[in-house]
Amino acid sequence: MAYGRRRSRYGYGGYGYGSYFHSTTGAEVSALARKTIERAAKKGIEYHQIFPVNQRTVAATWWGKSWCDNLQRYSDFSNRLPRGRKYLNAGGVLKLEISEGQADAVVQGSGTEPYRIRIQVDPLNKRRTKEIEEACSNGIKTMDDLLKGRFPDELKHLFFAPDGLFPRPGEIHFSCSCPDYASMCKHVAAAMYAVGIILDQNPSRFFLLRGIQADKLIAGALDNRVDRMLKNARKKSSRTIGDEEEVAALFGLF
Ligand SMILES: [Zn+2]
Repeated sequence: MAYGRRRSRYGYGGYGYGSYFHSTTGAEVSALARKTIERAAKKGIEYHQIFPVNQRTVAATWWGKSWCDNLQRYSDFSNRLPRGRKYLNAGGVLKLEISEGQADAVVQGSGTEPYRIRIQVDPLNKRRTKEIEEACSNGIKTMDDLLKGRFPDELKHLFFAPDGLFPRPGEIHFSCSCPDYASMCKHVAAAMYAVGIILDQNPSRFFLLRGIQADKLIAGALDNRVDRMLKNARKKSSRTIGDEEEVAALFGLF
């Protein structure tokens, strides 16, 4: 049964043409992933499959869900993302690590060897970062509140604004080592969702990915900056217009 289908797919799968003749099932992806994990373990490489909350829900927390919602609200992505769900649900995402501005993933495809995926996210531009920091530092009290998504709805709207905290499709770049890689293959789609699962486990990774310093978004950050500026101003023998401008700009007076 399954062997016959697998053998016919292997005839083409290594070159990435398998999908034209046979759509790999979730069970096949699971079996291939298991073999890849076993092979890798023998070489001392550890994979930790990334699974969604359940077959229908990718992520459960505010940052995880919001990451996925953000991707789905853009038509550029929404048509192409579902093809990754089968791979995600089957345990095809073997690994995903978020570092500054990027996520690197290993995703099992229809062939024997898994593929390598890189997702890069542009840092939020400086002007918007400053505006969002100022809005947040008035509304978010603690780091715990920020990471748990406990903040006023106005801020949530600000985060989802066209040039908000969450990246637009034009600010997300990706690549995959698979041979039939097009603008977004199913492996990239699976990895894009898996980022949401990682954010469920560790929401602070969002800020690393987006090039934002999370501590600047919480209450007190603004006060600290004002204190620092005033202290610097006092150190000088006389205050300059520049200092006043800086402080006033911080409060949005200019
Ligand atoms: Zn691919």
